[in-house]
Amino acid sequence: MLSVGCVDGGDHSYFSSSVQSQGAFPSGSTITTNTGKKFTFRKSTETNALQITSRNQNGTLTLETPNIFSKIAILVTGGGGASKAKVKVIYTDNTESAQNTVTACDWYSHHSSEVYGSLYRMRIGVAPRGSLDRGSYSGMYETVVSGIDTNKKVKAVQFTWDTSNNSSCVFNVFGLSGVIGADDHIHDDMAFKKWTATDSLPTESGNYRLETDVTISSTWNVPSGTTNICLNGFQIKRTGATGADNSGLAITVGDGANLSVFGPGKVTGGSGFHGGGIHVEGNSSIVLNKCEISGNTGHYGGGLYLKNGTITIKDGTVIKNNSATEGFGGSGIYAEGSGTLILEGGTFTENEIKNRGQYAVFLAGNANVKVSGNPIIYDNKYENEQNNLYLFRTNDQDSIVIVEGALTDGTNIGIRQRNETAIFKSGWNTYMSGKNPADYFISDNNAYEVRISTNEAYIGPPHTYMELFSKRRYYHRKMHR
Ligand SMILES: [Zn+2]
Repeated sequence: MLSVGCVDGGDHSYFSSSVQSQGAFPSGSTITTNTGKKFTFRKSTETNALQITSRNQNGTLTLETPNIFSKIAILVTGGGGASKAKVKVIYTDNTESAQNTVTACDWYSHHSSEVYGSLYRMRIGVAPRGSLDRGSYSGMYETVVSGIDTNKKVKAVQFTWDTSNNSSCVFNVFGLSGVIGADDHIHDDMAFKKWTATDSLPTESGNYRLETDVTISSTWNVPSGTTNICLNGFQIKRTGATGADNSGLAITVGDGANLSVFGPGKVTGGSGFHGGGIHVEGNSSIVLNKCEISGNTGHYGGGLYLKNGTITIKDGTVIKNNSATEGFGGSGIYAEGSGTLILEGGTFTENEIKNRGQYAVFLAGNANVKVSGNPIIYDNKYENEQNNLYLFRTNDQDSIVIVEGALTDGTNIGIRQRNETAIFKSGWNTYMSGKNPADYFISDNNAYEVRISTNEAYIGPPHTYMELFSKRRYYHRKMHR
């Protein structure tokens, strides 16, 4: 154990005061990592880290209060390169769990698995002592102690330097965060606490799973921070919404809030002005994962409304049977401002289209849509007309779908562009070189077809009859007109 130590075994430590916004290690305070776990740092004047090295090969964290844990996460940083340790828990009956090997990424540079960042490091030995290194982005990482017996109380966690390490490796432990109780609802590398209320939703960020349907008579304003909610087969149902204004929304994700929703389960019954089911604005984000957004109504955006922030739709998510009241309203989603809609999969279908041009996914303002995986936006119909994705941004030149990764089989997006005839994608040749965009996109306007043009996907008037003869997909569609 050490109080002020060299994280990398050399001359650098974290800049240690409580001014985290200036790149400091926030000594003595509780932080929430970007996976939603809370860790409390000890003060810099106390023993505040456990350091395992080739010379100091073992270390133990002893709990002040032994308890049953379903999951224990530890906050770590590697110095002198990525560093490994063997870890096990010791129970109050002095038996032990099996050891498993965990890795701490090196603290220098900005690894994608970083869970707590924006820290700077400081020289503590060699002159100029106290000088800050602001360019390193030295961060912290989480790792998980697996295989804990939930019939036994844990009293300590023991770490042993891994002999496969380079001798300069340093394994630093800064904190431990556990889920108390034999609650094994764990997925996506997170444990979810039970939420048992039938008529309210959390007011503090954290990981929750519904234990019953929740019926709310006012909007759930998602708390700031990171909240993960597993619907666990249940639904969030808004009642008493009139649709007159945003007081009828089911869920609002506002500035500083980041929400992930895991299905199966659905969000229904919302009826507001900007959005019905879920309203997203400000510096915020929502990720929908295998859940359903259905039975919601908005003036703009029946299922979802996006103004700034991001909405990410994962594979298995369904947005259906929502409706909008405005003519260009977007029954499934209406996006404007500078919002980004990220479609990694998911299905928008059978959303109500009350009039021609309303469309299921309506992009206005400067909103973007980014696609990869296998999204489906199809069979959202006004009478028999497809009204699926409408690119209606303010700046015609920017009215494009951005390809962020390969599109896979099953992708089917009905599309219309404000310009009617234009390239409607960027990135096609990067991820989809040699593929025919007409196998993934179809023009909602029957007068046009989708095809390749200068390595991008294009909507335009059909080719001549002779050209058309070899284009079976297009020919097939013409037969039905
Ligand atoms: Zn779950």
